[in-house]
Amino acid sequence: MDEPVGRAARGLANAFPAPASLRGVARWRRASGAPDMASLVRDLKEEGLVRRPEVERALLSADRVLFVPPSEAGSAYEDAPLSIGHEQTISAPHMVAIMVEALDARAGMKVLEVGGGSGWHAAVIASLVRPGGRVISVERIAPLAEAARKNLERAGFADAVTVVVADGSVGFPAEAPFDRISVAAAAPSIPQALVDQLRPEGGKLLVPVGPLSVQDLTEVERGGGRVRKRSLGGCVFVPLVGAEGY
Ligand code: SAM
Repeated sequence: MDEPVGRAARGLANAFPAPASLRGVARWRRASGAPDMASLVRDLKEEGLVRRPEVERALLSADRVLFVPPSEAGSAYEDAPLSIGHEQTISAPHMVAIMVEALDARAGMKVLEVGGGSGWHAAVIASLVRPGGRVISVERIAPLAEAARKNLERAGFADAVTVVVADGSVGFPAEAPFDRISVAAAAPSIPQALVDQLRPEGGKLLVPVGPLSVQDLTEVERGGGRVRKRSLGGCVFVPLVGAEGY
């Protein structure tokens, strides 16, 4: 899971029989008026979760149906987390919208994503750091990392995202410092290794912090020799499993 508590899934995706191929799904949805990426992003805009045009463009550039397993394709445009196997989920669209708006990633930046999952969130961030930027996405479960690489390849993001299998709770020192770090799993406290790997001037980290029942999406910013922290609101994520996690 990774969503504000109590949010209802919406969309009529499961009410329609879906054609077999993913490309076919996209064409058929447009023609039939069924939910698609455009209607999903429009809803997120109406809710005030997508505010900036560049975030809207980034979401539209990474069609979620390309990042879900075939068995979940009919639900790809629902605003809900979906299973990607190995007891993990692709993040809910509203959560990715909230995090991407807050992250404020811009062209040329180097971003560390912890908890790569399906690769979808990384693709949305990659769209914002192009041209010239990169996303290093760390995932601890090797088969998920492999699937994410394939998803990113077919969605056209292989050049901008490197997927690494590792414990991202300790960051990725080989590529530090990072302009931005985005964590998509719940940590018991702010991992100090991630704070240390932020760029000292203007570096920003987003991480869900708290017990497994509910966490605070926490923003950490470095600048002027100081570290500032603030809560962006409640959320529920799967656990960050590792040395600085659960
Ligand atoms: N944002 C992803 C997406 O859009 O598909 C979904 C992330 S999913 C909610 C959380 C992911 O964090 C899972 O795939 C899980 O295996 C991964 N994870 C948990 N602990 C980790 C760690 N220490 N290092 C790297 N990945 C971790």
